[in-house]
Amino acid sequence: MSASEDYRFVCPECAQTITVNASMRDALVENGCVVCGSTVSRADFEEMAESDA
Ligand SMILES: [Zn+2]
Repeated sequence: MSASEDYRFVCPECAQTITVNASMRDALVENGCVVCGSTVSRADFEEMAESDA
């Protein structure tokens, strides 16, 4: 069971889209976008639907 990628992040600055888990989301909120370094907030993350397959 790998439910390790739970949020979709779309950077408001560079439009980079990545899928992350909760701890990665927290790291991005603390450190900024990995691509452009822009400050991001939890509002920039969309929780993904749980698909159980
Ligand atoms: Zn960015």
